[in-house]
Amino acid sequence: MRWIDAHGSRTDYTFDDLDAQSSCFANVLAGLGISKGDIFFTFLPKMPEQFFAFLGALKAQTICGTLFSNFGEDALLDRLGASGSVGIITRKSLYKKIARIRGQLSALKFVILVDGDDDPGNGIISYARAMAEAGDSFEVQPTSPDSPSVLHYTSGSTGKPKGVLHRHGSLVGQRATAENVLGLQHNDIYWCTADQGWVTGTSYGIIAPWSLGITQVHYGGGYDAQIWMDILARERITVWYSAPTALRMLMREEEDIFTHADLSALRTIYSVGEPLNPEVIAWSRRLLHRDIHDTWFQTETGAIMISNLPGIPIRPGSMGKPFDGIEAAILADDGTKLADDEQGNLCIKAGWPSMFVAYLHNESAYNSKFRNGYFYTGDTARRDSDGYYWFMGRSDDVINTAGHLISPFEVESALLEVKEVAESGVIGVPDDLLFEKVVAYVHLHEGCLPTKDLEIRIRLHVSNRASSIATPQEIIFCEGVPKNKSGKIMRRVLKAIYTGEDPGDISTLEI
Ligand code: AMP
Repeated sequence: MRWIDAHGSRTDYTFDDLDAQSSCFANVLAGLGISKGDIFFTFLPKMPEQFFAFLGALKAQTICGTLFSNFGEDALLDRLGASGSVGIITRKSLYKKIARIRGQLSALKFVILVDGDDDPGNGIISYARAMAEAGDSFEVQPTSPDSPSVLHYTSGSTGKPKGVLHRHGSLVGQRATAENVLGLQHNDIYWCTADQGWVTGTSYGIIAPWSLGITQVHYGGGYDAQIWMDILARERITVWYSAPTALRMLMREEEDIFTHADLSALRTIYSVGEPLNPEVIAWSRRLLHRDIHDTWFQTETGAIMISNLPGIPIRPGSMGKPFDGIEAAILADDGTKLADDEQGNLCIKAGWPSMFVAYLHNESAYNSKFRNGYFYTGDTARRDSDGYYWFMGRSDDVINTAGHLISPFEVESALLEVKEVAESGVIGVPDDLLFEKVVAYVHLHEGCLPTKDLEIRIRLHVSNRASSIATPQEIIFCEGVPKNKSGKIMRRVLKAIYTGEDPGDISTLEI
């Protein structure tokens, strides 16, 4: 790993270093009495300890979850509480959020602080002290393909987020796609910009590339076009995996940032997480002199399912074709196969190697995603007569903002905690940069005024409780939210109101 911190200074870790550090961490966990199958979380920004802890936790055969460092208290409670996690590694500034909900986390026995001191009374362990005392060799017990491995929470349109559980056997699919879609070869220098809090960050930012012995660059700073181009040039990155929002942000920058960048080492660029618009591909062809290869997958699939493989002609706007051995299909709700070019449910024939094995403690939700041997992804798509798949949208109300799935239900729940808010309806609407932005219709209690101050307070509250990415970009105060007879918020109608489209049959609505 070539670790580049936010100030640009680089530290290299060899595979031996990673092995020793992760073994130390596995010993720390073993010393804390964690056992096989216990759930452990990392709650860190991109930093070397994130990688040591994740690998160490897998060595110790815990189930390792990763939490996006931007999560607020409700988001943390939903994940740490529901999973019954026994331990977590974090840093002092983030621990403040955990401290506020700790009383509700009865299973949580210990917190390892990367920058803190021991505080045995509160189950707090100093990472530095524990790592210094731990041995750097650890005998890894054999795993079966079915041994549980990684846990990521994903948002649905109703209810709490669901814990997507993977197994060690997922590696087969992750590795095969890293080799054959991303085309990773032994001497590559590879950079995946995804955060480790999401599936791309673990599947393609830790597991698959390192299983192939590839050198990875990880950068601890945020988005900055000049710095990103400098990293690509200086580190001589050969394969770069990023996301449409970041690429669209680059598109808005001054052109000379790109014309002056030495990208001679760069072989291929990949994208994932949201639809990749043809304009971005055209921009990249013009200024980076490279194609961008779109790939499609989701937390549940664990690995890339559909992609534009280098070598097959790219159809800009299409996600590409299914990977070898993956059977995709466009099905109607009743399971009928739809004809070419018809829009329907994007489904994957069950049984691929990196298929998730459970929604944690929610068997009925898991089962409901499978019908007649097919997994219903929640996306709608169409396939053209040459076998290319085209993303059309979601079949549920989940919002995809900058590649992050946001549950409108979670945002509405956070909004309801603001005392002035009587009810709300949250929707995703098209956005040029973020693909979708979060818009909240908010109905206030009688006598409450829709002031700028209140709007700021509402935003802050959602950011602290859910996350900054879930915070509505737009808040629209209204006199009521459309609901059907059973009280379900009709987000479809709100969307139509926002976009000025025909809301369809609204005869059964109540406001
Ligand atoms: P997640 O489970 O958070 O990784 O999100 C997966 C979802 O992101 C998918 O179900 C799609 O809705 C969306 N997504 C991922 N990749 C693409 C892509 N290449 N094109 C369009 N949507 C995508």
